[in-house]
Amino acid sequence: MRAIILAIGDELALGQTVDTNSAWASAKLAELGVPTLKHMTVADELGPITQAIEIAARDADLVVISGGLGPTEDDLTRQALADALGRPLVEDADALTALRRWFDGRGRPMPDRNRHQAMVPESASAIPNPRGTAPGIHAALHDADIFCVPGVPREMRGMVEDAVLPHARQRLDAAGVARVILTTKVNTFGAGESHVAELLGPELMHRDRNPKVGTTVAGGICSARVRSEFASANQAQRELDDTLAQIHDRLGHLVFGRDNVALQQATVAALLDAGLTVATAESCTGGMVASMLTDVAGSSAAVRGGWVVYSNDLKQSQLDVDPDTLAAHGAVSPQVADQLATHALAKADADLAVSLTGIAGPGGGTLDKPVGTVYLGLAQRGRPTAVLLLNLIGDRHAVRNRAAKCALQALRLTALGQPLDTLQWGQPVDPATA
Ligand code: AMP
Ligand code: MG
Repeated sequence: MRAIILAIGDELALGQTVDTNSAWASAKLAELGVPTLKHMTVADELGPITQAIEIAARDADLVVISGGLGPTEDDLTRQALADALGRPLVEDADALTALRRWFDGRGRPMPDRNRHQAMVPESASAIPNPRGTAPGIHAALHDADIFCVPGVPREMRGMVEDAVLPHARQRLDAAGVARVILTTKVNTFGAGESHVAELLGPELMHRDRNPKVGTTVAGGICSARVRSEFASANQAQRELDDTLAQIHDRLGHLVFGRDNVALQQATVAALLDAGLTVATAESCTGGMVASMLTDVAGSSAAVRGGWVVYSNDLKQSQLDVDPDTLAAHGAVSPQVADQLATHALAKADADLAVSLTGIAGPGGGTLDKPVGTVYLGLAQRGRPTAVLLLNLIGDRHAVRNRAAKCALQALRLTALGQPLDTLQWGQPVDPATA
């Protein structure tokens, strides 16, 4: 049994609204063991919607259509479905009563055009919508179950949970094909996707493997996605756990967390576990590291505070950076990163301090210090300060974001007592000889 999801609306096809409904519905169906074959997005045009319904009903067993059920001229889903079924639209008495009640309950007269929402194709049935005016529609075409649900995400989710998922579950049970799909993401930071894929190796990443392992990247975070599909929940979980153990084995400390765990959460957790406090000294990231750390609830037990020292003046007056060092090496230098971190550590009386100074672009790059050159200083109580040269790629936003995340990962690795060499984007520099 497999599904096709259809999203209807000009705003979706034109890119003004991102289609979140299809992603959500597919994820829910996958949990149930129903994989989605396609997502289709169609503008508010009758012919193309009808055609898409025809195609989807031939290719899938379950078709979920969201959007276009409203009362206005551009809401064409119900007519398109009627055309695909070759049946006229007829008024559904229960749906009309429910609509009237919805407006009565709000002390408003029902506009005439809303009456149209109580129309369903002759062979189809209306699905009650307790969260809004548009009832859904359930129909059958070419052995496929077709569900039309509202476009408003909250109403869509409610109706999928109330009507679509129970129906799909019933159909699976009736066919005696129980399948369970479990998915998990293993998140890493510090190396590119190809390097992560190499570490995972061809056996784990084989296309026909089950559990299946793939990689995706967003915001510098490379994740290994695992999908385990088996007849029973027990087996799916056992196989998933086994694959996850292999992934952790191969990726080691590049991994900071699973699923929705953010890097800053993992960093703060590591600091709290180790009982370490931290201070920040930021130039090019303008406080992003401090902001990300303090995003995490409970971070006050670890975060002492920090400085945003964007100008050379403030680097000198706030964190005692030596003017001769600035003159000799420039603000973007290992020597300045070293002093920023070392002095922030002492002034904040923290266990760890991290500093960032770099060229985020688009201007300011030179031949020996191109845009994306960032120095990261990491000071530790009772230890020499380490400096890393980060060579980051991307636009201003990407460089700043990755630099801040490198600082978080450096703090995390240090709190775990790990060397910084899993942070592949950084190479150690010795400020004394640089
Ligand atoms: P409709 O039912 O087509 O009138 O859609 C109502 C509203 O729901 C639209 O204006 C969108 O803001 C939102 N919406 C519709 N479809 C989607 C979708 N696939 N993903 C996210 N939002 C949607
Ligand atoms: Mg619409």
